[in-house]
Amino acid sequence: AKIKEVEFVKSSARAKDCPKHDRPEFAILGRSNVGKSSLINSLVRKKDVALTSKKPGKTKLINHFLVNKSWYFVDLPGYGFAKAPDAARMDWSAFTKGFFLSRDTLVTVLLLVDASVPPQKIDLDCANWLGRNNIPMTFVFTKCDKMRAGKGKRADENLRDFQQFIKDNYRVPPPWIMTSSVTGLGRDELLLHMSQLRNY
Ligand code: GDP
Repeated sequence: AKIKEVEFVKSSARAKDCPKHDRPEFAILGRSNVGKSSLINSLVRKKDVALTSKKPGKTKLINHFLVNKSWYFVDLPGYGFAKAPDAARMDWSAFTKGFFLSRDTLVTVLLLVDASVPPQKIDLDCANWLGRNNIPMTFVFTKCDKMRAGKGKRADENLRDFQQFIKDNYRVPPPWIMTSSVTGLGRDELLLHMSQLRNY
């Protein structure tokens, strides 16, 4: 399940510019600042795997990375920038939705959710939209170390609130995985999860 090699393939402005549907894809998605770059770096065990989707509201590209020459990590722009004008947010949805609805090689969406803050409406909206469109997803809770680092009960409750939302809203709740890029929690579990979904 290990990641040995990551190769940047291309940035696409539209779903139809993406690479051929020739390999399993895992899209990675979440609010800006959710810890996406940190998580990817921790999975890959490298610093600064180039993420071109980092600039808030500006770079709206779909970025394909080929992993171990066999499957894709698809880095999607973060959503919910506090400062982005509404128009930019709308843009995000049209653009990303196009990707989700057109990729038949999409194995699952890794929806990153910050475990240390209360459930955010935009995350819930995104999860609901994916669910309604039958797009498989895995909830990946980030920053789980913050729940132990003295912030204690409150952060714990934030996570439980989100998990309750999942249980309440899905007949078959999508899997979820707890992670921390600081402690490495969940890294192996997430890699194993992805390899099981790929069947190799
Ligand atoms: P991105 O915008 O989603 O790519 O988020 P980054 O990976 O840049 O992380 C945003 C902020 O959260 C940074 O200050 C990180 O140091 C912090 N962060 C990311 N992951 C973790 C984590 O697992 N634990 C803690 N405590 N902080 C994290």
